[in-house]
Amino acid sequence: MAKIIAFANQKGGVAKTTSTVNVGVALVNRGYRVLIIDCDPQASCTVALGYQTPDELEITLSSIMENIVNENDFDIEDGILHNNEGVDLLPANIELAGVEVSLISIMGSETTLKEYTDMIDEEYDFILLDCSPNLGQLTINALSCCDYVIIPAQAAYLPAKGLEQLIKTIIRVKKKMNPKIEILGIVLTMYQKNTNYAKEMLESLNFVYGNNIRIFDTQIPLAVKAAEAPALGVSIFVHDKRGKVASAYDSFTEEVVAHV
Ligand code: ADP
Ligand code: MG
Repeated sequence: MAKIIAFANQKGGVAKTTSTVNVGVALVNRGYRVLIIDCDPQASCTVALGYQTPDELEITLSSIMENIVNENDFDIEDGILHNNEGVDLLPANIELAGVEVSLISIMGSETTLKEYTDMIDEEYDFILLDCSPNLGQLTINALSCCDYVIIPAQAAYLPAKGLEQLIKTIIRVKKKMNPKIEILGIVLTMYQKNTNYAKEMLESLNFVYGNNIRIFDTQIPLAVKAAEAPALGVSIFVHDKRGKVASAYDSFTEEVVAHV
């Protein structure tokens, strides 16, 4: 059965999508079967995996969720794209925003995504969920079906404050809906190693959360190459195979595999 990992942080621009894509490819490179589900109507993950015009895709997470809510039959292969680097993707597009709104009024809709992952989890070793930058219905759906949460946090903001609401939400989901959920850890992204600022940030993060939550040993460095890759529809392992970000995502993935 697949291990399901959500990449979540209600803050945008902290490298949730970048981390989902690169950990996904790093897992494939290690021989694992990986499905990424794009849970964000902005569809950045779909684009970053090489599908430049998500709004033209016919079957996406939104149609699958609608099928589940309406109890329509569908094939579990429906909508799954096979990316060039070996990752499977259930894509998203802007229609997902409408689905998110309609879910609010449906009883038990928090577990719609879980119904889907329950159907498909025999087919994969890992299912990664790229969450949207809020704590709305889609993120709650992701948290309700995952085994683990990875929290990417950018070293440029005081993470101690912003993470509280996310952690509270995870604790609530654990109590009400998904007792098995576990925070796998916080990973610092866009990290500038030699600045005092970054060092202080790491210290404060360790001080505030270090006793309860794993702070991953690997930090993902800031690098232009990493920012270029998504528009090209490739991972860092294709765009800059020998660079520091590729090597960091590789070590980070090693840590992830060791702790799940
Ligand atoms: P989120 O999904 O949390 O909104 P993204 O993964 O889309 O964040 O990243 C936000 C922006 O930062 C994107 O433009 C992305 O290309 C860029 N980015 C991500 N990781 C790095 C990095 N290590 N170095 C430089 N830019 C990065
Ligand atoms: Mg994103």
